[in-house]
Amino acid sequence: MQVSAYIGLGSNIDNPLSQVKSAIKELNAYKDIGVDAASNIYRSKPLKIITAEETQQPDYINAVVRIHTSLPPIELLDILQAIEKKHKRVKEYHWGPRSLDLDILLYSDLILTSERLTIPHKELTQRDFVVYPLNDIAPELDIPMHGKLENILLSISKDNLVFIERYVDVGGVIL
Ligand code: AMP
Repeated sequence: MQVSAYIGLGSNIDNPLSQVKSAIKELNAYKDIGVDAASNIYRSKPLKIITAEETQQPDYINAVVRIHTSLPPIELLDILQAIEKKHKRVKEYHWGPRSLDLDILLYSDLILTSERLTIPHKELTQRDFVVYPLNDIAPELDIPMHGKLENILLSISKDNLVFIERYVDVGGVIL
């Protein structure tokens, strides 16, 4: 059985734009995963600036993709973490810079809390760099436990997000 899921992508070091684009292609290359749609790509300021060290962080590049997959959520997470690892993720502290961060935002209409996974993703509805890209590809979305995306957008400003580029889809290959 195939289900739809939404994956959030973020990167803020080592050429973030190309990392996000190549991660989308790598996801699409897995035989049990197909990328159906990609949001516009945005730049955003780092979250939770607490210490002087963290203010040094470069801006993030963010996007969201919709996939279809036959994989159960935990196997999907394993694949996302394998892709992150391949991109030599650097994570010195929780909110620190990372070469690539991949999150399962939504998995069909599943609600799940387990040791390794919380779905819908915990901060999904508070993050501008998640809700606006989601809106690019699924404005009609109804998010389990949170309701309609269009209502969630009303309380989240877009001011911190800078549009970078539209995705390009050539013959099913998203660049
Ligand atoms: P972070 O580096 O902040 O993205 O956190 C990574 C950790 O979050 C991993 O160890 C995952 O097991 C856990 N996690 C919980 N829920 C999710 C989710 N929906 N998508 C991705 N990782 C998740």
